[in-house]
Amino acid sequence: TYNFCAGPAMLPHAVMEKAQQELLDWNGQGVSVMETSHRSKEFIALTEQAESDLRELMNIPSNYHVLFMHGGGRGQFSAVVNNFLGEDGKALYLKGGQWSNAAVDEAIKLVGEDKIDSIEIVQKDNGLNKVVLPEFEGDKEQYRYLHYCPNETVNGIEIFDEIDCPWPVIADMSSTIMSREIDVSRFGVIYAGAQKNIGPSGLSIVIVRDELLALPSLKQSSIMDYRVAVKNGSMYNTPPTFAWYLAAEVFAWLKSLGGLKQVAIANEKKAQLLYQCIDSLAFYRNGVAVENRSNMNVTFQLADDALNDKFLAEAKAQGLIALKGHRVVGGMRASIYNAMPYEGVEKLVQFMEAFAKENA
Ligand code: PLP
Repeated sequence: TYNFCAGPAMLPHAVMEKAQQELLDWNGQGVSVMETSHRSKEFIALTEQAESDLRELMNIPSNYHVLFMHGGGRGQFSAVVNNFLGEDGKALYLKGGQWSNAAVDEAIKLVGEDKIDSIEIVQKDNGLNKVVLPEFEGDKEQYRYLHYCPNETVNGIEIFDEIDCPWPVIADMSSTIMSREIDVSRFGVIYAGAQKNIGPSGLSIVIVRDELLALPSLKQSSIMDYRVAVKNGSMYNTPPTFAWYLAAEVFAWLKSLGGLKQVAIANEKKAQLLYQCIDSLAFYRNGVAVENRSNMNVTFQLADDALNDKFLAEAKAQGLIALKGHRVVGGMRASIYNAMPYEGVEKLVQFMEAFAKENA
């Protein structure tokens, strides 16, 4: 079965097999990692290895902290507001799709509309969704941060350009983290829910530049306070240990593939194959400008929406599952994160070609 779910997504087969083998006996202890104290030397060693592997993979500079937190992606929507806005701060949000819009809503809910400015960055260009970034100019003090989402999981829109602005950039990288190399030093904070390219849902990774921790925070719960997390090695309360363990295994797997340079090449190849199929058949349509087509979440519509259920049922019968698009945009979505092998995309393309031929 090839699982194209946007999240919780397919995990690397090799990682799942290893986890299965170790489920009842982790590290020769005769118990599962789930039953192991987070304060034990074995588990601490795991967390140190996980952080060191992540730092190596993403080339994270030493003035950044790496946090393993609770609350998934959405948990961070409020965390960034509470950690950095203080009583008098304002923030700028870029709206580019479902998730960046949801982050704006959460921020406004917490601090009110007068503290949150937003800019719509998606425009129609020949009927296609295209990201147009404005020139960001202004006073350094104007905003505590700029928030955006480089990959809109629902809309299949990816922003490959870096943001140039006078303020610290906070990026929700939930669905693009570790899919390609990025320059971490250009960001104030990178955060990601784990359930796409990292591990089980619930866990979130936060990479935060040290100097940002000096910004005034709002009153908030301690478990979402970055300073508390830094001080306690992400163990202020009992962390999601099994998710952390699996994330550590995924990082080791990514290293075994040769790191993110190699991973990006593989991802590019998979995405090209699928977009080529969509472009070459009049039966399918992708509504995103070529330069913003996501390498992780490939959205497409069939020529006739009435065929959607048939498409999904026949795909499922061939072991190609979870292709239904998000309810907000409809159509189909194939999420092809790091764990999706090339063969999975090949099989999907073969199916799509045959389906188009039979139903055109
Ligand atoms: N941000 C992005 C880009 C997402 O794709 C998602 C979920 O899929 C979220 C945030 C929300 O993550 P969570 O459900 O872990 O809160």
